Order: sequence, then C-alpha cells, then structure tokens
Amino acid sequence: MDQWQKDLKASISDVETLEKVLGVPADSVRDVVDRYPMRITPYLLKQIKKKGDSLWQQVVPSPEEMELEGSCDVEDPLHEEADSPVENLVHRYPDRVLLFVTNQCPIYCRFCTRKRFVGSPGTLSPENLRQACDYISEHKEIRDIILSGGDPLLVVDRLLERVLKALRGIPHLEIIRIGTRVPGTLPSRITPALCNILKKYHPLYMNLHFNHPDEITPEVGRACGMLADAGIPLGSQTVLMEGINDEPEVMIRLMQKLLAIRVKPYYIYQADLVQGTAHFRARVEKGLKIITALRGHTSGMAVPHFVIDAPQGGGKVAILPETLLHIDDETVIVKNYEEKIFKYPQPKPKPTSLHVLSSSHHDCE
Ligand SMILES: *Cc1c(COP(=O)(O)O)cnc(C)c1O
Repeated sequence: MDQWQKDLKASISDVETLEKVLGVPADSVRDVVDRYPMRITPYLLKQIKKKGDSLWQQVVPSPEEMELEGSCDVEDPLHEEADSPVENLVHRYPDRVLLFVTNQCPIYCRFCTRKRFVGSPGTLSPENLRQACDYISEHKEIRDIILSGGDPLLVVDRLLERVLKALRGIPHLEIIRIGTRVPGTLPSRITPALCNILKKYHPLYMNLHFNHPDEITPEVGRACGMLADAGIPLGSQTVLMEGINDEPEVMIRLMQKLLAIRVKPYYIYQADLVQGTAHFRARVEKGLKIITALRGHTSGMAVPHFVIDAPQGGGKVAILPETLLHIDDETVIVKNYEEKIFKYPQPKPKPTSLHVLSSSHHDCE
C-alpha cells in the first residue's frame, strides 16, 4: 500500500471517531452520515484549528443537511442525469464532456453538488470506459474531456493510466482535464510516479478545488509545484459560501496565495441548489462584490470568472459587475476600479469591402 492509501485509510469516516476526535456528539449526526458519507483525511484534520472554522464547516456533518422545508433544492440541480448519453458521461456543451471516474473522494464536502452519489462504492468499469470512448469516438465534435467524479485522483495509478491511455487513443480529443480536490486534502497522493504518468498524456490540464486561504499550506504548495513541474497548467475552482469565504478580503487572499503556488484562479461558483446544502449558500451580490474587489485592485491573473451554473442544465453563466455604463455608435462610457468614469471614442464604422472598392475608385477620379 502506498503512503497516500494509508493516509486515506486513517481518515475519519464514522461518527464514533468523529465524536472522539472532534467532540461532535455521534448521535447528533448519525442519520446525516448514513445518508451522506463523511471522510476527513489526517492531513485535513491537522488543518482544522478550531470548532466551526472554515475547514471544519466544509467537512464536518451538520444536522442542517437534513433540513428540507421551504426549499426548491433537488438532488441533481444541474440535470446531469438528463444530459447523460452513456452511464457516467455528461454531454451538455457542444464540444466537451464530463466523465465520472469514481464515486470516491479524499473528503466529502458537505456542500457537494454531487451529494446524491459521492461516497458510494464505485469506479468506472472497463466496459463503461469502452462505452464512453465509443461515444466520444462517434462524436467528432468532442475535443475536450473533463475527468471528474468523485475525485479522479483517488483511483490507483494503474486504473488512471488505463483511462488516460484509452482517451488518448481518440484522435479528435484535443485536451484532457482533471478536476480534483486531492492536492489540497490528500497531498501525499501527488507522487513522482503519478506525475510521471500524467505528463505522458499532455495536453493535460488540472483544475483544483480550494475555498479558503488557510488551505494553502507548504505541503499543498509542494504538491502543486510537482504537478506544475510536470508541465500541467493548474487552475482553481472555488465555491462561494456564507461564513467561509464570502468576505472580499478572504477571497483576495485565497486568489493571491493560489497564484503564488502556480495555480491560476479559474472559477468562483455560486453554490448550486443541492438538497441538504442550503445553509452554505451566499447571495449572488456577495460574489459580485468579490469580483469588484479583485478587478483592478490586484493582479488580473488573480481574477476568476464568477459563474452561476444555471439550474436544470442551463450551464455556466458568467456574472459580471457593471462597468459598461453606455455604448452607442460614437462613444463607450466605462467605469474603472476606482469608480472613475472614462469616455472611449468608438472607431468609425468600417466600410464593407465593397464600399472600400467603390470609394477608392471614387478617390482616384
Ligand atoms: C463545467 C462543465 C464543463 C466545463 O465547462 P468549462 O466552462 O469549459 O470549464 C463541461 N461539462 C459540464 C457538464 C460541466 O458542468
């Protein structure tokens, strides 16, 4: 067994251990954990500094997860199942697909969009992988695949390589992406052996999940450095959550710390309408305020897109603070980060090529 597998095995996953280690009464969350599995890796446990802090809230089950009243939350708000042509494959956008490689994760985020199935046993079977590859092979418009789950880095190297190899056999598949929370929650999984496998399948990108600046530790920095040294461009995805990262100051620090460990902020998500996660949801204005606080005030590299993944499978929609105050044929009026107003003169409308011909002809006469 590799060290990371031992670390995973030493995670907290039952309510009795949770009570012993963190003092949460076992009976208060027994039904929650029966329904939605829990896992807290030893690494993550070490990062929890006190009851109710940003990491605690993300991984410690709460009775609030069982509250349903007055909510329009559902198990599959993004309608992933409706957009699934083959088991474990989601095809929503024209040129890219999502493939669920496993139901397992290093930790079970209490706010997870896929609360409906994560934590149940299950990894992509060889037969299922073949079906997914057949589908992609038949759909030449697919040029991008995102390995997701669950967390694709929780499968053993041999299986991960089998998936990557099968996908690389499809000529029109240009890029492979991996979405993972492993570097920030089980950094021992990022081994030289893993990096050696991954770098054989370039162009390969990774989007890492981080929600709070306290998640950026020296261990995490080292893991991300190894991936970056393997030539993998790293992005980040963050979920906006009430009381965890809804203050601009917290989010600015997170984005700056990510850049410092070679991770380029990619998305901040408005929390999805998932059953059992309502207590995490912040208002959309908070996200807009965060983007406003980032843009212009710090490196443009640190500014991700703030998106709402529209319910019922509408896909991601970017939400932007208003900076375009007016636009007409002659003038554009914009507001900068200091709230100063500027006028930009539009170029004259370009004549069409036909006009160019006739007017130049005219000029010569
Ligand atoms: C998020 C998502 C993608 C990838 O979207 P990008 O904006 O390209 O990162 C693809 N498919 C599904 C179903 C998704 O939810």
